[in-house]
Amino acid sequence: MVIQGEEYLSLANLAKAVGRPANQVVTRERVRIPLGRSVLSLTVGSPEVRVGTRVVSLSKPPRRLGRAIVVPIELVPITLGAQYGETRVSWDQETLTATIVERDHTLRVLRFHTYPDHTRVVLEGTRPHDFIVLDDGASGRVVVEVKQGILSPLIRSRHVSDGLVRTIETQQLGNASQITIYGMGRSLSSTIFALQRPDRIVVDLFSRDRQARSSRQAEAAIQPTPGQTVGSKAAVRSDEPIAPSDVSSPEHIIKTVVIDPGHGGRDSGAIGQSGAKEKDIVLDIGLRLQELIEETLGMRVIMTRTEDIFVPLEDRTMIANRHKADFFISLHVNAAPQSRAVGFETYFLSREPSDRGAKASAIRENTALHLDGVGRDAQRGLKTILWDMTHTFYVKESSELAESLLNELGRHFKVENRGVKSAPFYVLVGAAMPSVLVELAFITNPDEEQKFEQESYRHQVAQALLAGIAKFKTRYEKRVGWVPAPSSAMR
Ligand SMILES: [Zn+2]
Repeated sequence: MVIQGEEYLSLANLAKAVGRPANQVVTRERVRIPLGRSVLSLTVGSPEVRVGTRVVSLSKPPRRLGRAIVVPIELVPITLGAQYGETRVSWDQETLTATIVERDHTLRVLRFHTYPDHTRVVLEGTRPHDFIVLDDGASGRVVVEVKQGILSPLIRSRHVSDGLVRTIETQQLGNASQITIYGMGRSLSSTIFALQRPDRIVVDLFSRDRQARSSRQAEAAIQPTPGQTVGSKAAVRSDEPIAPSDVSSPEHIIKTVVIDPGHGGRDSGAIGQSGAKEKDIVLDIGLRLQELIEETLGMRVIMTRTEDIFVPLEDRTMIANRHKADFFISLHVNAAPQSRAVGFETYFLSREPSDRGAKASAIRENTALHLDGVGRDAQRGLKTILWDMTHTFYVKESSELAESLLNELGRHFKVENRGVKSAPFYVLVGAAMPSVLVELAFITNPDEEQKFEQESYRHQVAQALLAGIAKFKTRYEKRVGWVPAPSSAMR
């Protein structure tokens, strides 16, 4: 059933699916269902669900519908996973179908990413695998056999057609599985290696002739229209960070910044008591900031949106990557249950939130994922991706940018400095550049909301952000011999 655009199902049906009676209600609002070797417990109104010793945060809390309790549909794979073992359950977010397989799969995800000069194919496992390379690409295809590798039923052959790779085909051959990557009619060169945590086999594919490479680069530079998904979703989502190709230039200076006004269109973001919407405030401040940067710093500013439209989160950093931006700033307005909360916060990306407030912010800002029809799988993928992100050199630059912005906001407005924080914000994932998210003052505080209504206040906020950017730019460019290690960043 769909309630306010979200898929739910009744708790009774969920319990039936795992062969349990639905009368496990402890109190009126608390429910416990024994499963396999653990117990699932949930509370109406709380998004935190306990599965054994693990706590899972749902996008929406379980709620009452008449006399029944209904739960978000994303609880289905979690519950089945607890009952049958996580590796035996596959969840298809598009059809909302769970598949329980006889034997545990050991290869759970196949994904690929198109970069300006190469394509990366990643096969993620639940444990390490031995593999042999049967064909290295010179003949136009790469063939890798994964020993003792059982493919998840969700892994299917894929069309890529990104200018370099045509298709990726997978095959289960008894206890081994085989992955074949076909080039687009020309020979490939490949680098194949294993990575850990999570365990995965990575195949990087390059063209053997340079001409093809530069034409692909030109293709990649074409500006996507905000609000439109360019190519297939998987093709545009940057899953793992890579260094911008011109970053090792000796006269590396900051030329391009991406300003990302959060939310937009059907996603209004936080809403204040008198109805001010986050999406409108951040767009206005973002446009002012664009003008200020162009006028005073002479930099190129790319906006992820300039009007009230919905832009999927993953498209936002993609826009930045395509323009080879030097840094990325996502603008948001804060919200808190306590209406007195004041102050600014700046964030950089991390796998785990730095504190409870950071966690709440990440949950709130990641909800656009659900508006976009992306659910639990994407969130699980997010954890994986973040693991890679935290090891890159962008973390240091990002935290410095976050600090510089926060210092200037604090100086201009003399409000409580809530500190630089970090959290798993989906919108920052995949940015191949320093990237931060700014939570401007709390819209849930009526005084602050009123200030946002004033044009002069919004302009002051833009000016403070400008000052933070200018200071960061100066320091960044002064740093001599800053050459990142692309190898560590890529792996
Ligand atoms: Zn927001």
